Amino acid sequence: MSNPYIEQAEEAILHTYNRYQIVLDHGEGVHLYDVNGKEYLDFAAGIAVQSLGYNNKKYTQALKDQIDKLTHISNLYYSVPMMEAAQKVKKASGMEKVFFTNSGTEAIEGALKVARKYSYGKYGKDRYEIIAMNHSFHGRSMGALSVTGNAHYREPFEPLIGGVRFTDYNDLESVKAQVTDKTCGIILETLQGEGGIYPATEEFLKGLRALCDEKDLILILDEIQCGMGRTGYQFAWQEYGVEPDVMTCAKALGCGVPVGAFVVGKKAAESSLAPGDHGTTYGGNPFVCAAVSVVFDLYEEEHILENVREVGAYLTEKLDALVQKYDFFAERRGKGLIQGIEVTGRPIGEIVSRAQEEGVLIITAGSNVLRFVPPLVITKADVDEMVTKLEKALL
Ligand SMILES: *Cc1c(COP(=O)(O)O)cnc(C)c1O
Repeated sequence: MSNPYIEQAEEAILHTYNRYQIVLDHGEGVHLYDVNGKEYLDFAAGIAVQSLGYNNKKYTQALKDQIDKLTHISNLYYSVPMMEAAQKVKKASGMEKVFFTNSGTEAIEGALKVARKYSYGKYGKDRYEIIAMNHSFHGRSMGALSVTGNAHYREPFEPLIGGVRFTDYNDLESVKAQVTDKTCGIILETLQGEGGIYPATEEFLKGLRALCDEKDLILILDEIQCGMGRTGYQFAWQEYGVEPDVMTCAKALGCGVPVGAFVVGKKAAESSLAPGDHGTTYGGNPFVCAAVSVVFDLYEEEHILENVREVGAYLTEKLDALVQKYDFFAERRGKGLIQGIEVTGRPIGEIVSRAQEEGVLIITAGSNVLRFVPPLVITKADVDEMVTKLEKALL
């Protein structure tokens, strides 16, 4: 079945994605509608972005109001939305200082620069190595790609930035084995997303914090996907009580406008990036910061964390039951409303497209994991509906 929109899109857009054959038109709550009016229950949320669901009136009104006032001024001036957004990130994280970026990838770039600059300032130029994790995902720019633990993504673009050593996630000894007198930082996702939904163990995170304290390394936690409430904590590291030196955010930070941030703790705030070391034209403009600001307000007003804990527990229960029931479902992993089911012995692409036919959007992570990252406002009834539709898709 050919679709004229898809044909014309493919004619003009560089083919770097194999997109699903759906042309989306609008959204309402936890539902999306395609140009033919077909309704989808959305368990993808634009890849863990649309935490508040679609067409939240208070959110859209805040954006409209800001558009009428001012969208962009550059970082040569202050704006009230930037001040407010930064204060809210600071309060929610308990960390020191924020730098707003346009994407997750750029937040990673900034975080890597913080680690390098901290070490450069204190120890000179030969201490630059970064330890990163196998199966990690941090983005597609040359820097972010350099610390992404997927050779398939990296190889065609090498040489990337030097001085990166890969090691195994949740294996403290393998990290320790990579530390040299040149190491300046360690980067990891608090919960690996794209790599297949693997939460960090408490032992691993606490061990890394101790290691970074002992060797004076910068600990970077990538919270781009798992942060902003998805695990039931505002930031996933808060569950472990392990504070990073730098945290990266994006995805749900603006719930649909392109905004990311790197946030630094005391150690990196005191001696790392200084005037002239880093910049961005768009980053943190009044428009995106108005979004960030209203997002934090709505998280409180709508009790998002409480909902994630309650509905996340329910989703966990339901997914565990599916794993019990179907032998091609090997395992469930995840926390709160970031969950994965590993699929073995059945083509995962078929499950996803059959689910779409049934009216539910589910995406994948890694090569064989079904990823469940719905809007954080979903209800137990939505979970039931998703499970019913997914089971129909499995018939
Ligand atoms: C999505 C993602 C990124 C990249 O963010 P972009 O906004 O696509 O640049 C980095 N790290 C993690 C963990 C992500 O999930």
